Amino acid sequence: MPGPHEKMNRRQFMQKSLYSVSAVGAVSAMAKNQSDHESKIRNYQPEMRYRRLGSSDIYLSVISLGGLIVEEAVHQYAIDHGVNLVHISKSYKGGASIRSLGKVLKNKRDKVYIAVKDNFNDIDEILTLLGTDHIDFLMFNRHTPDEAAEESIWEQAETLLEAGKVRYLAGITIHNHIKETVNTALDKNFSLLMTVLNPPNLDLLQPELKKAYHNGTGVIAMKTMKGVENDLQRNYLLKVLSHPEITSVVKGIGSFELFDQYLNAIQETYSYQQTFESKLLYSVRNDCLMCGACEKACPQHIHISTVLRCFDYYSRQLNDESHARATFQEMAPAKRFYSNCDDCKMCERVCPQKINITSKLWQATQSFESVVV
Ligand code: SF4
Ligand code: SF4
Repeated sequence: MPGPHEKMNRRQFMQKSLYSVSAVGAVSAMAKNQSDHESKIRNYQPEMRYRRLGSSDIYLSVISLGGLIVEEAVHQYAIDHGVNLVHISKSYKGGASIRSLGKVLKNKRDKVYIAVKDNFNDIDEILTLLGTDHIDFLMFNRHTPDEAAEESIWEQAETLLEAGKVRYLAGITIHNHIKETVNTALDKNFSLLMTVLNPPNLDLLQPELKKAYHNGTGVIAMKTMKGVENDLQRNYLLKVLSHPEITSVVKGIGSFELFDQYLNAIQETYSYQQTFESKLLYSVRNDCLMCGACEKACPQHIHISTVLRCFDYYSRQLNDESHARATFQEMAPAKRFYSNCDDCKMCERVCPQKINITSKLWQATQSFESVVV
């Protein structure tokens, strides 16, 4: 077993891998002109906006494509308009999404960075499905500080890097116990964080965003529109992008119209309006923060925030019933069913959003139980 010193060296190697590869094309803004700069950006298109990923020399489009929805023609269109990051997981839609992305990438692999969320035990299958010999960013899916601190992440990442199956670095996606897990990830020097940044979390995570910026850690915002009413989404996109700490907003985009809306929006800049802020606050007043306080209080260890994510977000807001059911089914029955709740209400007492958790747990079980028992 390697000692702690050896582990630190290995981790530094992983973190430096991002910079050493990109440093070949490093751009000195002082010394190079604008066209030189643009030529260093993968898939540069003038209508897109790009931001530097943390302290690396990789520039990402401010809009990137989530993998939950892969409409091949829309993905092609978005890449033709300068998107240069796609995110995918083999689990999305039972594998249909990654197969569709593989078709999209047949003629566009060199135009995009690929971020994959997985456990990476099946990396060869992922590469085959995507039709590539490497992915760019490993995204380890971790939901608690303990999970984010696992040393096995770095060992697995190093193995894949040395095998040439990943080009850059280990990142982390965070869906629960968000503030604590983000802090652990920053302490562990992940170079890329993908975290939920809907309105309440954007406010709560201000100190962590500043720390990420200071550390040179890239941040990709996901589930930004969770709980946000449709007519507020355009302005909220601009608000998210008004934070220089955030490199890109990853979004499942299923239509040309939606992509055009996003592309048009980013031509503008955010300006504070009290009316919009008030409406935004009202829109998300009962939305789950994924803070994990309820789960810490629950004597039955029910995965409350994941149940709410399935019911409120995937099913109700995104109308993606199949993904809601699939994610619900991934949890053990004891962790998801209302029948396991003893109605002690401990969860509701600690919930900062005052969510009627037991009622939602019951409704989610009613909605999804028939297909899982
Ligand atoms: S009411 Fe149910 S879900 Fe809430 S803490 Fe008690 S057992 Fe857990
Ligand atoms: S239900 Fe409430 S306590 Fe539980 S994760 Fe969501 S916001 Fe936090």
